[in-house]
Amino acid sequence: MARSRRTDSDVSQAGQAPARIPVGISACLTGQAVRHDGGHKHSRYCTEVLSRWFALRPLCPEAGAGLGTPRAAIRLEQSGASQSGGSAEAHLSEPARLPVRLIAPRDRSDHTNALHHWIDGQDDLLAGLRGFILTAKSPSCGMARIRVYNPAGQVLRRDASGLFAHALMTRYPLMPVEEAARLNDAGLRENFIERVFVYDDWCQLSARGISRAGLLAFHTRHKLQLLAHCQQGYRELGRLLSDLRVEDIHVLAAEYIARVMHVMAQPASRGAHVNVMQHMLGYFRGRLDAGLREEVQAQIQAYQREEVPLVVPLTLLRLMQRRAPDAWLAGQHYLAPYPDALGLRNQL
Ligand code: SF4
Repeated sequence: MARSRRTDSDVSQAGQAPARIPVGISACLTGQAVRHDGGHKHSRYCTEVLSRWFALRPLCPEAGAGLGTPRAAIRLEQSGASQSGGSAEAHLSEPARLPVRLIAPRDRSDHTNALHHWIDGQDDLLAGLRGFILTAKSPSCGMARIRVYNPAGQVLRRDASGLFAHALMTRYPLMPVEEAARLNDAGLRENFIERVFVYDDWCQLSARGISRAGLLAFHTRHKLQLLAHCQQGYRELGRLLSDLRVEDIHVLAAEYIARVMHVMAQPASRGAHVNVMQHMLGYFRGRLDAGLREEVQAQIQAYQREEVPLVVPLTLLRLMQRRAPDAWLAGQHYLAPYPDALGLRNQL
């Protein structure tokens, strides 16, 4: 089932929810008792809210690598160059670029290669995902700020990614990745979910086969979203697609989507949303009574003053669009980038 655009009305008209988007998740976030202490880190937001639209695919790298539950705690360790040679698979931690390994300090067992071996075996599954939600602070799943120790147990730094998270982000650099704990922040939550929907749209386009027309149509329907995230990036993307007579459209498409996902990862500021909504309001000049336009303008300004959430002026703009439809605006995913029932714009 196609899922290029998803709104609550889609659900009600069809009588059932459309196909859910496949998103990976650290298994302990789904309530599976796979942590080293036999516990879990259940995220009800993920399993009770996001699961309505995302088909969650739980994975536990440590269990997958054969570490039992319960098991000895493990940590990232950075050893000296003399101890690092030999393994081409060693995880490199920025910025020092020295090998980091996954060690159980209790018995000094090294689980690095077992974890990488398991990750290699997950490639087919991972390639089909449109996003991944990770557990924070884990030496395997943590996205950032993971401690790296020396063999004596001293913290050398706190800026690494977990072994699995690092491999995931390196192998699938377009895939939106976020930690469950950070989804408590309204801005980060909205940004992650919006990116999953955009990336899913791209994957659907890729599955149909990249064409010049398909590329232009994708860019057109995401224009206002891109503008909201970064005006300069939006302009650069337009320039990139200004001449499609290139020999290999796939090379251009690869550069294009890499830049799109980079732009989308930048937070959309309040001022940028105001700019986009003013731009949209311009489409109704002379086509709807001035009183309604003034009311929408007033609500955009109220949003700018942080008196009302983003959903207020946007609901009015959607009302205007229903009363005096504009074909170009109708195609803009900015108006409904994800289901309303997620309530994301009520908190922005
Ligand atoms: S954080 Fe990752 S490795 Fe640790 S229990 Fe959860 S899913 Fe497994």
